[in-house]
Amino acid sequence: EAKDVLQQVLAINPDHPEAWTGLAAIALVQDDQKEAESAIKRARKFYGENPRVSEIIGVTLAGQYRFEEGIKYLEEARQLDPLSPSILFELGSNQLRFGQLEPGWENVAQAHELDPYNVAAFNLITLRDKLRDYPVREKDGVRLRMSPEDMAVFGTRALDLAARAKTTLADKYGIKLSAPVMVEILPKQEDFAIRTFGLPGGESFLGVCFGPLITMTSPRGRLGRANWEAVLWHEMTHTITLDASRHRIPRWLSEGISVFEEREVHAGWGQGMNSEYRKRFLDGDVPPITRLDESFAGEDIMLGYYHASLVAEYIVRTFGIEAMRSILADLSNGKPVADAIAKHTKPIEELEKSFLDYAKKIASGYGPDLDWSSLSDEEYVAYRKDPAPWVAANPKRVLKNHKACRKPLQVHSTPKVPA
Ligand SMILES: [Zn+2]
Repeated sequence: EAKDVLQQVLAINPDHPEAWTGLAAIALVQDDQKEAESAIKRARKFYGENPRVSEIIGVTLAGQYRFEEGIKYLEEARQLDPLSPSILFELGSNQLRFGQLEPGWENVAQAHELDPYNVAAFNLITLRDKLRDYPVREKDGVRLRMSPEDMAVFGTRALDLAARAKTTLADKYGIKLSAPVMVEILPKQEDFAIRTFGLPGGESFLGVCFGPLITMTSPRGRLGRANWEAVLWHEMTHTITLDASRHRIPRWLSEGISVFEEREVHAGWGQGMNSEYRKRFLDGDVPPITRLDESFAGEDIMLGYYHASLVAEYIVRTFGIEAMRSILADLSNGKPVADAIAKHTKPIEELEKSFLDYAKKIASGYGPDLDWSSLSDEEYVAYRKDPAPWVAANPKRVLKNHKACRKPLQVHSTPKVPA
């Protein structure tokens, strides 16, 4: 879609440098080097040293989690325009996300000096001064930063878990991380949001992974229930799959593997089947694997997480971890995800069918002795009038299956997302 808009712009002005830059950025995201090069050439036609070209490409790549390449372009932009606050800020904040803390803070500080009105730069610099006082502990290639209060309470436990997650998962997915993983557990939700996004907000996130950097809120800074150990394991799985795919894994698969790996540690971690998902799978009311990304864009996001985790589980259980490793390796070389999966499992239409069978089996194993039929309105009224005897008389009836029961239950069952 973005591509169409850019092409419309070029139809009006065939030399529009920013439209050509946009096309170049899209081509780079899709690993089409040739197309990217020719678009960059067009973008630089009249103003070869235009720093905006490298800046836009850098920001686009970093926005797709392609930090290493994004930072390279942003470095190039800075060389062309060393005093641009926006370039310095984009470069610095993405270096911070990619674990390059020293140059990252330096560049953000410079952006802040040049443009005191950049709110995100101001927020980050204010936070930096606080983070400097936080102790860092290291074990087996994991560096953990926490507030002194949190470190005293659960620092050792968090460090041991993070190190165990890193070692277990790197071994399982057959990779060696070239740099230590930085885990920052911040005591206040607002600080977490600023460290992660540069701005307050992001209340629906428990943790975020950028690859070499994981940010999380400490249990003390958060409302509601969430298991920080499960979140840490989930985020560390992202670190591993991002690295294995050279940051070219689609979101649904990354989330799927992370939730699957949570369950592998502990049956109570990660999402499990529930009455709503049970019905959706049994009715076949779920998108095909090839369109799973759509679930993450709308209301079905929680189902999307669970659905994707079942796909990951199915692939690993049926075709072995070797198949998953090969899929990630193919993604790292730019192969489209459907092709990579088909190559290491079976043709995609067959896979869709056998996966759905697999999911339906799990769904029908959920409360197999219960009576899942919907409550009629009369039954519901009778239940509401006098619940205890009604339940005693209908011990296997699932009350959730009445429309009146659905809404409050849905609110209740919308947990925060360990992104
Ligand atoms: Zn996640």
